[in-house]
Amino acid sequence: MNTIVEKLRAAYRSAAVPVPEILYNCSANQEKYDQYRQIFNRWFQFMPAAIVLCVTAEQASVAVKFTSKHALPLRVRSGGHDHEGECSGTDTILLDLSKMDKVEIDPVRRIARIQPGIRFKELTTQLAKKDVMIPHGTCATVGIAGYTMGGGWGPWTRKHGMCCESVVGATLVLGDGSIRKVSMDGDHAERELLWAIKGGGGFSYGIVTEFVIETFELPAEMIKFQIEWNEFQYVPENRLFAIRGATPTLTVLQTWEKVIASTDLAASQLVGTNLKISAKHASENEPFNPHTVSHNCVMYGYWEGDENSLQKFIDQRFKDTGRYTVTILGKAGRDYRHLLYGDHLMSSWDRYSFHNMNLLKQGLQGIPFPPDEDQPAPHKITSRLVNADGLGEQGRYKLLESLTSPLVLPGNKDLGLFTYITLGAITGNYYQRMTPGQKTKSAFP
Ligand SMILES: Cc1cc2nc3c(=O)[nH]c(=O)nc-3n(C[C@H](O)[C@H](O)[C@H](O)COP(=O)(O)OP(=O)(O)OC[C@H]3O[C@@H](n4cnc5c(N)ncnc54)[C@H](O)[C@@H]3O)c2cc1C
Repeated sequence: MNTIVEKLRAAYRSAAVPVPEILYNCSANQEKYDQYRQIFNRWFQFMPAAIVLCVTAEQASVAVKFTSKHALPLRVRSGGHDHEGECSGTDTILLDLSKMDKVEIDPVRRIARIQPGIRFKELTTQLAKKDVMIPHGTCATVGIAGYTMGGGWGPWTRKHGMCCESVVGATLVLGDGSIRKVSMDGDHAERELLWAIKGGGGFSYGIVTEFVIETFELPAEMIKFQIEWNEFQYVPENRLFAIRGATPTLTVLQTWEKVIASTDLAASQLVGTNLKISAKHASENEPFNPHTVSHNCVMYGYWEGDENSLQKFIDQRFKDTGRYTVTILGKAGRDYRHLLYGDHLMSSWDRYSFHNMNLLKQGLQGIPFPPDEDQPAPHKITSRLVNADGLGEQGRYKLLESLTSPLVLPGNKDLGLFTYITLGAITGNYYQRMTPGQKTKSAFP
């Protein structure tokens, strides 16, 4: 008998709210508890006192009041992708919202009502079937809730901004357990609350049980592509991965910065992009020189248009960057309804997988890791924001120096250890068009 769980069930009965499924340790449902206590970052292993599988805002509200009354620590989880595991904890009451995964699309008002538990693979596929989209993230398994409240950078950011900027309403359970609907048309307090959840951080101002997000029309053709410089190559005799090619990273970085700052017609077709630079071992025989050091670099991009226009753009903008390889990773759009958007445009594209490295060892090209196999993924990550003027000369040098370190050992990749930085472009036509007043549309710093 688990006393906390019994008391929680009693609280539901006395509030006349249907009792949700509650999982706990040493119960008859141990296997399910062990499955649900896991979060995406397996670095963390928590043992919550109870996992409450909410399906309504009312069920979340009762749990909030209960934990407040009994001074119990509360956590909330939607997609479970929090890098620091803040969505769970040992001996906490964990509200799991993953079963709240409904989406209602209103094509006339151009909005979608989205519950917090849905993940991008399913969400983007449902939206694309109705020829609309929202500024989603890059990874198929991330949840809409934490992503949007944390800002929400992704493949559409250059054209449509971060996802938080498209949020026009929400339903929230507040700290006192009350349920509030907030919208842009509400009073001052309502608008302030809405502003705060638009990029102000997960679980800071309430538990969101529904987002209302503006949609945009899905283009006829979208291409997801990558450009790679200084590819990894396996050297069997040394049992190590080396990089092939010697394009200075500085050249790639400066070219990418120039491309993301462009707002001309062709550049507007590049609706989103990021640049990944893999760290490498600092060798004593090769003193660090920011002008010549070369790392494996991969630019990912989403292109609105056909392959010819994309190829022309790449030829023009990257002609001075030495040898590179262009790969088309997927297609979607109104003309590609037969292809599921979530299968073709989404992936875990920000990291090298051990699986890809094994393919490279066999002399085969790496293929994107299937999203549903995107775990376990123990990792450590941190974020920084570049100020509006960009990295600057010193910033670039420091960045490249930090990616050339004696702490990155030559054999790391063989062990499945990867170190890299990803630069995401939060710039482009959307931000160019913004007036100074509109810049406060979201709480994202
Ligand atoms: C593989 C991977 C790829 C990623 N790619 C991107 C990317 O392309 N772009 C990007 O911007 N970010 C990306 N991220 C970061 C990601 O957006 C954040 O980790 C985000 O918080 C995950 O949201 P979630 O709902 O899955 O996580 P959760 O762990 O469930 O929640 C994250 C935080 O929000 C809180 N929270 C969750 N649900 C609610 C709710 N309903 N109401 C109030 N608070 C809530 C949690 O308590 C926690 O503090 C990525 C992360 C990973 C692991």
